[in-house]
Amino acid sequence: MTDIKFLKGVGPVREAMFARLEISTVSDLLHYYPRDYQDRRPGVMTEYGDGAQVVFLGRVMRTEYIPAKSILIFKAHLENEKGEKLECAWFKKRPFYKARFDPMAALKKDFKLAQWVWVVGKKDNQENFFANKISVDEYYPAGVESSLIHVNRLTPVYGLTQGLTGKFFRTCVYTALETKLKEEKEVLPVSILDKRHLLSAPQALRAVHFPSNTPELAAARKRMAYEEFLLLTAAWGIKKKQQVKTKNYHYEIKTNLLTPFRENLGFEFTASQKKVINEIFNDMRSNVPMTRMLQGDVGSGKTIVALSAMLLACENGFQAALMAPTEILAEQHFFTVTNFLKGLDVKAALLTSSVKGKAKEKILEDLENGEINILVGTHALIEESVKFKNLKLAVIDEQHRFGVRQRAALQNKSENIDVLTMTATPIPRTLALTFYGDLEVSSITELPPGRKPVTTIITTESAAYSKALEELGKGRQAYIVYPLIEESEKLSVKAVKEDFEKIAGVFPAFKAGMLHGAMKRAEKEKTMALFKNKKLDILVATPVIEVGIDVKNATVMIVQNAERFGLASLHQLRGRVGRGSEESFCLLVPGSVSTVSKERLDILCSTSDGFKIGERDMQLRGPGEILGTRQSGELEFKAGDIFKDADILKWALEDRDALLAQDPRLTSPEHAAFKERLIELYQKHWHLISLS
Ligand code: ADP
Ligand code: MG
Repeated sequence: MTDIKFLKGVGPVREAMFARLEISTVSDLLHYYPRDYQDRRPGVMTEYGDGAQVVFLGRVMRTEYIPAKSILIFKAHLENEKGEKLECAWFKKRPFYKARFDPMAALKKDFKLAQWVWVVGKKDNQENFFANKISVDEYYPAGVESSLIHVNRLTPVYGLTQGLTGKFFRTCVYTALETKLKEEKEVLPVSILDKRHLLSAPQALRAVHFPSNTPELAAARKRMAYEEFLLLTAAWGIKKKQQVKTKNYHYEIKTNLLTPFRENLGFEFTASQKKVINEIFNDMRSNVPMTRMLQGDVGSGKTIVALSAMLLACENGFQAALMAPTEILAEQHFFTVTNFLKGLDVKAALLTSSVKGKAKEKILEDLENGEINILVGTHALIEESVKFKNLKLAVIDEQHRFGVRQRAALQNKSENIDVLTMTATPIPRTLALTFYGDLEVSSITELPPGRKPVTTIITTESAAYSKALEELGKGRQAYIVYPLIEESEKLSVKAVKEDFEKIAGVFPAFKAGMLHGAMKRAEKEKTMALFKNKKLDILVATPVIEVGIDVKNATVMIVQNAERFGLASLHQLRGRVGRGSEESFCLLVPGSVSTVSKERLDILCSTSDGFKIGERDMQLRGPGEILGTRQSGELEFKAGDIFKDADILKWALEDRDALLAQDPRLTSPEHAAFKERLIELYQKHWHLISLS
């Protein structure tokens, strides 16, 4: 690979400037794709930045040089073949000390009478009746081939750095394409190029920098995106294969627990639940540890799916753990588990940071001697002191709320265990793969029968209160939720406390209770139980209720300052109502309404499809903020866009699977260049042992 400093026109000074853009070789330069393109074909006027950009080819009819006191002005009057006129102007400060230096010398030389020149500039706002005026950004002599790098075409625009102009950068890329393109290897196997109708590497590199037209540019981008995706997904695939361990235990499907469990449910599994249970069981019975993510919308019934998996482990004499991000959720799960396991010979226990002293000691002891079959809890599960006798399945609920390390810590409580992660912030499969690397995804795609979608509207506080009164009048219950303010549970608790008085005044005939994270566990439990048993009509709360609360009689939720929530959170919150058979309402009360927040909230009103909402949320807030677990560098694509190019990503995954099935170590000569590039890109971070 040629060093960038050896490219014609670069040298050591500019080498340092290129280094700031992480360009150290000519190849890096060729893979530094344009940030944008400008249509610089004459006659095309396009808005760029704040002005209309003009590209004009004209003959110099007249020039003016006006050396005013502090400013020098140079003007060139051009006329094109059609007789259209353009006035170009340049303004320069008169230099103080270098009296003999003329800043306009170059212009005077380049704009000689009768010469044809290309000019690119911004239109001046004040229109002269007789002539158009522009201030010129770039100009190029006509009839010179090198000018056509910059004008009369779709012109690339690059992200630049101090000292490198667009003109210089384009010239360098052009020179590199002319002189060094042959050094660029085709990394994609020919069979794939054919199958996916992709441009070859040289074709694509040329076209991505200097496209002859828009379709060619699209084809080049597609090829570049595909290449990036295939390389990254191949790295995952190889990494995963080399991590594969074999289980030293195996499962049989017995019937002593699962059958009575299913018979006692009181309802049928939905078809979707059956499908994912099968997928999970097949994983558990295979000899490779499971890494599966179960995604399903709020209320789709993930808990009993997880419970089925835990029972399969118990039936085979193993232990299972279920970890949830909050105490309330862990308690709720424990309640569900014990409820469904009534009469079965399974012992479950709850471990959170509130469990202390003797009670905790007993749990730890029973866990270690195998008395406890299922342990439900919070982060407390990953403490050093927690030791299992034979843990074989870890279930992690709302997995995106845990850090990578916390998930790994639970997984490492025992060797080669099966891991099932669950999320109600569903994301498309390709995105899931992109964010979590290679894991299997199971999706519950339907809600249990009889659910009605929650009617969601954006409204005012007073309208929301009247609607709540109406529902309360029918004997139903209501939630009033306040946002978590910038990580500060304190402020949000304050808001809850302040408004609590007010709410008592608005609903004098009804009983309201308060629920927030600053309360003691016993208090929280008491309040929850009161609400569940309808001793309270209204629950005023922080988003601690986001997950886990299951009160079928609650049919209204008022969300205060709704614009402060992420869409996915609102969707989760909304899932607390609509759990029974009555029509339910989610009333979003924005504190202030900007168009953007209105647009966001509208999405929620128009769909109850958690997949759509999750995807929109991610587009609006960026994946990092939502998933926030992986090093983002790995996911920065130069050409590809995981949203817009989801189809291309899908192809890449398909082709990757076929490629690695056929040639797992990439030893065939057809894959040599691909392998070389893969190692160059990912070896350092990922140690792709099986390749080197
Ligand atoms: P989530 O996926 O949000 O965790 P849950 O597991 O909490 O959903 O289930 C929501 C509610 O639906 C629970 O009350 C659960 O008992 C109930 N449920 C789950 N599956 C079914 C089903 N197949 N038929 C009827 N109700 C179900
Ligand atoms: Mg759940």
